[in-house]
Amino acid sequence: MDLRHAGTSRARAAFPKIIVPISVLLSIALVLAFASLIWTAMRDDTRAESDERTRLGNAISAALDDMVFDLADVAASTDLAASMRSAMLRGRAAPAGHAGAPGFDTIFIVPSQEAAPATGLPATTGALTFDRLAPSLAPLIASVRARLAGDGRSAAERGPNTALSAVRGEARLLRLDDEALAAAVVPLPAEPARTAGATAADAGIVPVLAGVRRLDPTALAVIARAAEIDALDIASHTPVEAGRATYSAAANGDVSFSWRPRRPGAGLLATFGPLLMALAALFSGLIILYARRVTTTLAKSEEEAWRVARHDQLCGIPNRLLFVELLDAEIRRAGEAGHKLAALFVDLDRFKDVNDAFGHEAGDRMIKAIAERIANVLHEGDTLARVGGDEFAILQKNVGSARDCEALARRVLQAVQETFAVGPREIKAALSIGVAMYPQHAATREELLRAADLALYRAKDEGRNRFAFFDERMGDDLRIRKTIEEELRTAIQTDALVLHYQPVLAADGKQIVGVEALVRWRHNERGLIPPDAFIRLAEDRGLILPLGEWVLRRACRDGLRWPTLKVAVNVSPIQFLHKGFVALVGRILQETGFDPSRLELELTEGVVVDEADEAESAIIELRAMGVRLALDDFGTGYSSLIYLRRFAFDKIKIDKSFLESMESTGESAIIVHSAVHLGRALGLTVTAEGVETPEQHRFLQAVGCHELQGFLFSRPVPADDIDRLLGACAEIEQRAIA
Ligand code: C2E
Ligand code: CA
Ligand code: CA
Repeated sequence: MDLRHAGTSRARAAFPKIIVPISVLLSIALVLAFASLIWTAMRDDTRAESDERTRLGNAISAALDDMVFDLADVAASTDLAASMRSAMLRGRAAPAGHAGAPGFDTIFIVPSQEAAPATGLPATTGALTFDRLAPSLAPLIASVRARLAGDGRSAAERGPNTALSAVRGEARLLRLDDEALAAAVVPLPAEPARTAGATAADAGIVPVLAGVRRLDPTALAVIARAAEIDALDIASHTPVEAGRATYSAAANGDVSFSWRPRRPGAGLLATFGPLLMALAALFSGLIILYARRVTTTLAKSEEEAWRVARHDQLCGIPNRLLFVELLDAEIRRAGEAGHKLAALFVDLDRFKDVNDAFGHEAGDRMIKAIAERIANVLHEGDTLARVGGDEFAILQKNVGSARDCEALARRVLQAVQETFAVGPREIKAALSIGVAMYPQHAATREELLRAADLALYRAKDEGRNRFAFFDERMGDDLRIRKTIEEELRTAIQTDALVLHYQPVLAADGKQIVGVEALVRWRHNERGLIPPDAFIRLAEDRGLILPLGEWVLRRACRDGLRWPTLKVAVNVSPIQFLHKGFVALVGRILQETGFDPSRLELELTEGVVVDEADEAESAIIELRAMGVRLALDDFGTGYSSLIYLRRFAFDKIKIDKSFLESMESTGESAIIVHSAVHLGRALGLTVTAEGVETPEQHRFLQAVGCHELQGFLFSRPVPADDIDRLLGACAEIEQRAIA
């Protein structure tokens, strides 16, 4: 598994999330656009076709009307008179005798005698004989005659009025076998009939002229032009080809037409379809491009965020998060393949001192340099991570045996042997290393890290600048620590803690001027446990706040018994820097009624050095309340002088380690001497701790130490014993006066 690309693939996975809805929306939009285009096209086509149909109907009517008028013209022409007369005389239908009449294929004169056989009538054109046509023409003729009869006037009355005749005429389409024809019938002027002296029997029956023409291509073309349609044809019997429109009207008998409709919609589709397609393609392209760009940027920034979250900014190497992830992955892999691996915790010894003495910038430079040197001694595949301010961790792969881990630990220790150049200075670094192996020491990542941590503590305990392997007993130690933690928690709650008080004497060693409260734990099985055995644990496990509160309250209560004494209380840095601390002190003073000016809080240098600003404001507030402040274990840190000037302490307590080594080295005596002088010069009370011998007492008295504390005068004792000691002192004084 490549952890580095997890971020990218996550962003890639987001790609379909963006692109799918966009594509769906786009598809819907496209389908809608196409649908509306097709719908519009179809509607246009239908409209156009129905327009064409209407025009066709009109053109046919107009053509028929024209035929009626044309025929009326023929009827009115004098050329017709002779033919008419003979036809009349014979009482038979006869060809009009002049085939040249424009617009007609044949014209018949149909005299009054309707039923007369049409024998001997020569056909004017082709087979359009009256015999064949008679049955089809009969209804038309009948209709014209009926109309004339309905007119109510005799043939004589009607006169030779052509226009009137034309108006009375009628035309329609006919089918004759397979042929489509147009036929017109107009009444003949009455004049010739009368001149001919028609028989009385014929009176009342109007002679008519019938004109017929074939709907041949020429005729169709005329109609088509008038109707503005294309490829007009007769569609009566043969099946109409697909795509052609048809027209038939009841008035037109059996004749129906077909034509090729114009399809403006299809044109629209042909024009806009590809355009729409092109647009769709363009938009899809753009959207896909955009989505790609977005996801790539997303992937990039996600990758960057992933990288930042998993790397140490200062050294550019993996941080704890990535280390843990890599370790998880490697453990899984090693578990499957039956391989071994190791976790090495590397902790810089006393690195805080470097920061304190040379500043954080110098500290950062050194951390970076150390990381580089360690990285140089790693083998291919091993990973160095920075897991804390001054803590590194190494994931060692390809471990054959413990010897490989040991070799790596030695290489790392060796790598930092040479001094580091920090500004003008050469600083020496020291490391402690804890080693734990998988699967020997641990079955899971958590266990492996804890094992390496325990091994690291062992290395530090054994004197630093060394490495230690995890062993099973460390686990036991951890379990014991766990039990102790639980027990301490209940001890704080159940008042199983006790305070002992160690007297603080004036320089003469006779008068008790104060007491220092020192906590002990009364354990059921282990007896009285000294603070060194559990204060650190309490600090680590977050128990120091309730413990410190308990101590402060008990000391103030006990202190009420000794109105002349100052009561000193040790305050852990964690407790002091806790934001509720000043308020807590105020509350306890109020609650117990203890005089603030008799309360002395002992702080160690660590507090003022690490969190100077927070410490300063707390100190100012406490002093405002009237509480006194002492700097404990003076002389063991780096920056005593600087901070002594900055922070307003009332007292310094010279660390007992100086007195311990005073006998053996003259140097310590000089330090104590100058510390006392310094304190006095700054107007502070100077107290010496750990006074065990009369020689030390004499020396301290001689150099001007104000107060003394040590086994020489008294060990820390229960409160009741202080009462007794105070009584004894009073007695001595009394005796001295007497
Ligand atoms: P400390 O504040 O330096 O306290 C003085 C320690 O020196 C006490 O150890 C005391 O018993 C011991 N001592 C006094 N006179 C002599 C002497 O002549 N020779 C030698 N060798 N030692 C002497 P103790 O009581 O074991 O306390 C140890 C440390 O535990 C204290 O050192 C203090 O840092 C811490 N401590 C004690 N009580 C409390 C407490 O209530 N709260 C906190 N935060 N820390 C406490
Ligand atoms: Ca102290
Ligand atoms: Ca001390």
